Amino acid sequence: MFPLQSTRVALRFGDRTLTHAELAACAGTLARQLTGLPRVAVWATPTIETCVAVVAALLAGVPAVPVNPKVGERELAHIVADSAPAAVLAAPQAPLPEGLHSVPRLDVTLDGDTPELPDEPDAEAPALIVYTSGTTGAPKGVVLPRRAIVSTLDAVAQAWEWTGDDVLVHALPLFHVHGLILGVLGPLRRGGTLHHLGKFSTAELTRALAGDGTMMFGVPTMYHRIAEEVGENAELGAALEKARLLVSGSAALPVRDHERIAAATGQRVVERYGMTETLMNTSVRADGDRRPGAVGLPLPGVEVRLVDDHGVTLDDTGAVGEIQVRGPNLFTEYLNRPDATAEAFADGWFRTGDVGTRDADGYFRIVGRKATDIIKSGGYKIGAGEIENALLEHPAVKEVAVTGEPDDDLGERIVAWIVPSGEEPSAEELADHVARLLTPHKRPRSVRFVESLPRNDMGKVMKRALGT
Ligand code: ATP
Ligand code: MG
Repeated sequence: MFPLQSTRVALRFGDRTLTHAELAACAGTLARQLTGLPRVAVWATPTIETCVAVVAALLAGVPAVPVNPKVGERELAHIVADSAPAAVLAAPQAPLPEGLHSVPRLDVTLDGDTPELPDEPDAEAPALIVYTSGTTGAPKGVVLPRRAIVSTLDAVAQAWEWTGDDVLVHALPLFHVHGLILGVLGPLRRGGTLHHLGKFSTAELTRALAGDGTMMFGVPTMYHRIAEEVGENAELGAALEKARLLVSGSAALPVRDHERIAAATGQRVVERYGMTETLMNTSVRADGDRRPGAVGLPLPGVEVRLVDDHGVTLDDTGAVGEIQVRGPNLFTEYLNRPDATAEAFADGWFRTGDVGTRDADGYFRIVGRKATDIIKSGGYKIGAGEIENALLEHPAVKEVAVTGEPDDDLGERIVAWIVPSGEEPSAEELADHVARLLTPHKRPRSVRFVESLPRNDMGKVMKRALGT
């Protein structure tokens, strides 16, 4: 799965580093202690130990469950009961919550001397169990085989021309697909380097990209911070300009932020679309057209189709339908949820629950999630994202989320939740702005001003927590 031989730096966290060969030694040693365990949890702090623990479990062929170190009591109890780990792997200094006291603890150290690695485990056996972000309901445990991980990493490497010479910079958490599979296992599979910033800051990012960093992975909230600052921060601008590739994912990158970064640096952020169950589905290629608001083409080996409410495949440019995916990047099942697994598939295609369209040249655009972003109002189906992007073009709007609320006349009415950038603008003016830019039936019926939007640890807006 990984070359793990070279003396090149594999992992850099602050001033702590491990070369690929050193990683092979300590993860190989730990792997020998894990062999035969049915499953382990990893207390996924943003540390080098978390990476060692995950690599050790992969080498040993023991399924690993990364756990958010900020997890609340109830969610932790669910994860422990659902995944039944035989041990929890953690950095020696990390305090563990009471909910994990019943699980035997194994400290991850960076000692080890064995260059001899176990045989490569079966490609279809569960390798990682990753819980979804919980944006639309309780998180589900997604069982990912090694085959899905390897195929997605090789597909994005082709699309992004990612090699062992790349130094990836990010500050993502290590318990979701984005930070862990793409962000840690990606550089290891390429034989390259991960430079993890610990906590995201534009100052740390500037230093890393001005140094040897060549690529950055981030979520839209990080690119928003960059967009806000880059006009006045020449050093940040220069560092971003020098980078080979800036990649955004996990949620839609607002068109306004894409354009502000491009105007200040000449760099257009590459957007990709994926999810825990399918890993990566589509992406703009490194040598492709970096079109704002679009998530690019299906990755090599991945098939993507749009389907209407009756299961009919839509081939017309601009037609709106559910995105369904098939390919070697797919998960095996939801842990302990045969019902949910069966429901998630239609003739072997995974139903993403996301709604999208296709441009004439095959580029996909995400309209939103079926569950929260498609508003059925006055006989129209309206995507929240389009209205959000329109509102962000208004200078008085800092952040926005658009939702639908039950309405006797319309079925649903459009509600805009606004974080103002300064003084509160008039609701009327914002609603008119949308009607003017788009069409009158997309005019928000209510505009509500809030201090902040509820977001999860990936910066995704939790729409179900708005207003209800
Ligand atoms: P849950 O399934 O628990 O509700 P979640 O769907 O947010 O949570 P993830 O698997 O982490 O959990 O996220 C995948 C979802 O993120 C996708 O289904 C899609 O809605 C969204 N997403 C990912 N990348 C993009 C993107 N580039 N543009 C728009 N949406 C994206
Ligand atoms: Mg989901």
